[in-house]
Amino acid sequence: MNISVIGAGTMGNGIAHVFAQSGHIVSLIDVSQSALDKAITVISSNLDRQIAKGILDEAIKTATLRNISTFTDIPNGVKSADVVVEAATENQDLKLKIFSQIDDHAPIDAILASNTSSISITKIAAATKRPQKVIGMHFMNPVPIMKLVEIINGYATDKEVTKLIMDLSIQLGKIPVEVNDYPGFVANRILMPMINESISTLFEGVAGVREIDTVMKLGMAHPMGPLQLADFIGLDVCLAILRVMHDGFGNPKYSPCPLLVNMVTAGYLGKKSGEGFYDYTDKEKKELIVSKMFN
Ligand code: NAD
Repeated sequence: MNISVIGAGTMGNGIAHVFAQSGHIVSLIDVSQSALDKAITVISSNLDRQIAKGILDEAIKTATLRNISTFTDIPNGVKSADVVVEAATENQDLKLKIFSQIDDHAPIDAILASNTSSISITKIAAATKRPQKVIGMHFMNPVPIMKLVEIINGYATDKEVTKLIMDLSIQLGKIPVEVNDYPGFVANRILMPMINESISTLFEGVAGVREIDTVMKLGMAHPMGPLQLADFIGLDVCLAILRVMHDGFGNPKYSPCPLLVNMVTAGYLGKKSGEGFYDYTDKEKKELIVSKMFN
């Protein structure tokens, strides 16, 4: 199939990687040429890691990279798509604009999927003239490793479209789970209040970063503590999701912790900016350094 992936950031490069490795022809689109260049470098080094582990060979790496072309404009990047997967920045106005543009330029029968973490699929679909062909395809981070894909049916999504996207996810080696379209869907409706509560626990001085993460790792058998996970997701992404749930439900329990708001405002976005709850700037040290702001 011809797959167009819009956005070449944390998620977009992983989505392009798994489609290309499964033999699909991928058009990877981003407004930023440097994001596209970085994405190809990341995909290449992730493939090298798989080769080092003996999971795949050089020929598959070459074929995977050959399956990916890059574009800086949506009209050219989606013109022959069978399926478009949008993974641009988590911002509702931006996504509505992108979907209206994709709708104008993608083939009439193309399926339009969004990797949004929380924004209403029904609202995104309403920005197009094909709401029955719009669906949520929510991959988890890091995409090449995580098995789950949360498939979100908008109010108007056709049953055949859901089936095709479920089958396509299985063909990628993933396990799809079908859910309905309410703020945060299932994954983030449960995860984000936990992350927000862990930030409030830090904010109120109940415990430090390492202590909070250790309690959740050793006590609840989580592979990663919630503050480290927030850093990996991106604190700006966490804040955007909490705001969508707060607006969508009108319930104060989703109100983002003021510490999270301050950190995002100050540009402390987690791993991608070099510092969040942990400091990632010292590459020599294997151990994560807890940010000096909080301990
Ligand atoms: P990111 O900030 O790493 O990347 C977003 C990319 O979108 C950037 O490269 C940016 O240049 C590009 N972009 C912005 N406007 C664009 C446009 N008009 N056209 C094309 N490209 C454009 O963000 P991310 O973490 O990869 O998140 C992308 C989406 O995936 C969001 O909807 C997010 O909620 C969702 N998501 C994120 C995670 C996570 O762990 N980070 C997990 C699941 C889903």
